[in-house]
Amino acid sequence: MNNHIMPTYQRLPVAFEKGDGAWLWDDANNRYLDALSGIAVCNLGHAHPAIHHALMAQSAKLIHTSNIYRNSIQEHLADRLIEKSAMDNVFFCNSGAEANEAAIKIARKYGHERGIEVPAIIVMEKSFHGRTLATLSATGNIKVQQGFAPLVDGFVRVPYNNISAIEDALTHNPSIVAVLVEPIQGEGGINIPEPDYLNQLRNLCDKHQLLMMLDEIQSGIGRTGKFLAHQHSTSIPDVCTLAKALGNGVPIGACLARGKAAEILTAGTHGSTFGGNPLACSAALAVLTTLDKEDLISSATTKGDLICAGFSEKLKNNQHVVDIRHIGLMIGIELDCPCAELVKMALHQHLLINVTNDTVIRLLPPLIINDEQIHLLVNQLTTLIYEFTHTL
Ligand SMILES: *Cc1c(COP(=O)(O)O)cnc(C)c1O
Repeated sequence: MNNHIMPTYQRLPVAFEKGDGAWLWDDANNRYLDALSGIAVCNLGHAHPAIHHALMAQSAKLIHTSNIYRNSIQEHLADRLIEKSAMDNVFFCNSGAEANEAAIKIARKYGHERGIEVPAIIVMEKSFHGRTLATLSATGNIKVQQGFAPLVDGFVRVPYNNISAIEDALTHNPSIVAVLVEPIQGEGGINIPEPDYLNQLRNLCDKHQLLMMLDEIQSGIGRTGKFLAHQHSTSIPDVCTLAKALGNGVPIGACLARGKAAEILTAGTHGSTFGGNPLACSAALAVLTTLDKEDLISSATTKGDLICAGFSEKLKNNQHVVDIRHIGLMIGIELDCPCAELVKMALHQHLLINVTNDTVIRLLPPLIINDEQIHLLVNQLTTLIYEFTHTL
């Protein structure tokens, strides 16, 4: 432990030196299987040559200028994102929380332009939107908010996957201008809504002139078997936020907007020094190119199905396993009891997993995970779950 770093993280006692695909090596040269990808960041795995080469080439030319000037790499990346998303334009920033901050600013200004003086945004229970003041206020987790009052006003919370709860909130509050929701809740426990949830939400937003704002920071960039998770539905949001896997580890976030939402943030209303700089954009461009070239997005579906079929078969006789759910490579195994201990047990066996919402084992393996690694993951984790539940 190093006292010169603020103790904001409960770190596991391991430090990694290098990686290759889904493998990581620690400073004693032990090899680990990474089934978490730095929390849905390294979707192309570690040390992918396309990212390495893009960063080498770009850093030899130019790392940063300023958003005072045009930036052809940023323009190129924007074109590619718009092509792949059916949105209209994009604001670049450096993280997920910042992308959501931009979305929240769009919603508020949209409200003011409609003459609503104190605009409110509907947010969900068990949601996660980041750690800045506005995004932690939007987050549906008291632990994230504890100690940071006064929170940012203007959020109305409803249960997830419940359209009538939104309708209810609308009848009580005429100042609601937007709904901010994750298409699949990540931190909240890999919660997957009803298949028609987003389409119903789209209809409701149209009817009440609300902005439909999707936080795809964890679910986006191919992880669920579509470029964006909402593309499993037929609905297109007004705002969509991205970060995590967009740069495969190079910090970059994006707030995409469409239609009226795309016209809200005008010159001087928002900005970022680093946002969309040439180095970060070169990494993101390499990510998008590689996803297509290696056909990784559709492989997320086949690999996710294969992994979960394995777990379903091997865990079917374990009565502590409440549910196994996934879309593509966003995977949750819910137990009937808190299981954070499993993370340490797995680490001892050189397997990197995560537990979220106390009882849900969360797996977010890289999209490049291979068959051998899939079998290792399923076998090793199944054994660990049996070991853990035997002690209960
Ligand atoms: C990780 C995450 C965020 C926050 O992203 P940061 O880059 O840590 O600010 C926001 N929303 C969702 C859904 C996330 O998974």
